[in-house]
Amino acid sequence: MLDAETKLYGLLGNPVSHSLSPFMQNLFLQRAGINGAYLAFAVNNQRIKEVLHGLHALGVGGCNVTIPYKEVVIPYLTGISRTAEACGAVNTLIYQEEGFYGENTDGAGLLKALEAQHQWTAQEASILLIGAGGAAKGVAMAMAFAGAKKIQIINRSLNRAQALAEQLAHYGRLAAEALPLESLQDAGLYQEIDAIVHTTSVGMYPAIHERMPVRLDALEERHLVVDLIYNPLETRLLQEAKARGARVASGLGMFVHQGALAFQHWHHRPPDLTNIEKLVEAQLVHQKESK
Ligand code: NAP
Repeated sequence: MLDAETKLYGLLGNPVSHSLSPFMQNLFLQRAGINGAYLAFAVNNQRIKEVLHGLHALGVGGCNVTIPYKEVVIPYLTGISRTAEACGAVNTLIYQEEGFYGENTDGAGLLKALEAQHQWTAQEASILLIGAGGAAKGVAMAMAFAGAKKIQIINRSLNRAQALAEQLAHYGRLAAEALPLESLQDAGLYQEIDAIVHTTSVGMYPAIHERMPVRLDALEERHLVVDLIYNPLETRLLQEAKARGARVASGLGMFVHQGALAFQHWHHRPPDLTNIEKLVEAQLVHQKESK
């Protein structure tokens, strides 16, 4: 029930019409008994500065930020966290009296999900990261800060992988290395790694039959294979890795936990996550069916 006391939260991006954040955040608010509402705003590219000032002037409690504004918002914030600075991107705005403060919960959200699902931590881990875009950066930084031993980055554009490896070596005390896409064929690569984290959009709906050329015959039960994609819930990569006996995790857990961490920043308590992945998944199916 909305009334004169209802506090507003929201998502800034473009497009936002398929986002599951409003569904999830409103459910969190409802479960916590908080008088709040969370809306999605498709922001015009030219007006992000005005939007931020306006939302702050209205006393909006917090926002999530998605593509294409994760980097663009930074100059208009009063400050950003160490993680957001390392990523060069913000996905959460937190109301402070002087303006919004920027945080990035994407990478930490993935780590929370992997801990909850597989009791897996990045501490002392050797990770193969496929992709070097915005999501890869967030994940790599969170893993470096969590004590990863080694991160090898494979990307179609090698120069982007190299830039990320250099940045990782600067921020974290770990070995970071960039490799060309062809290295995925090197069976030796898989022997020393604990986890493969796929962060590109290859295999995402509707191109669900595509997958990165990971050497499936080099996968073992001890490997954890993570795909940041959650539409489809199980990408071809995850299906085939699972069939080889590897443990797998989809991007749904990351999505839920990055949102849960944002909620915690705004409301100073964690949301009730009971059955949340099933509910978000059902919403995803509903969206597809009503297309
Ligand atoms: P981005 O910044 O545009 O980066 C895209 C990455 O994918 C780059 O490394 C790019 O390589 C690579 N790539 C794209 N098409 C490719 C192809 N055909 N072959 C090989 N590599 C290709 O995008 P992003 O924001 O990082 O998002 C990447 C994925 O993560 C998306 O699927 C997104 O849905 C997912 N994601 C999930 C969550 C979650 O909560 N689960 C959060 C954020 C993102 P180049 O550098 O060579 O172009």
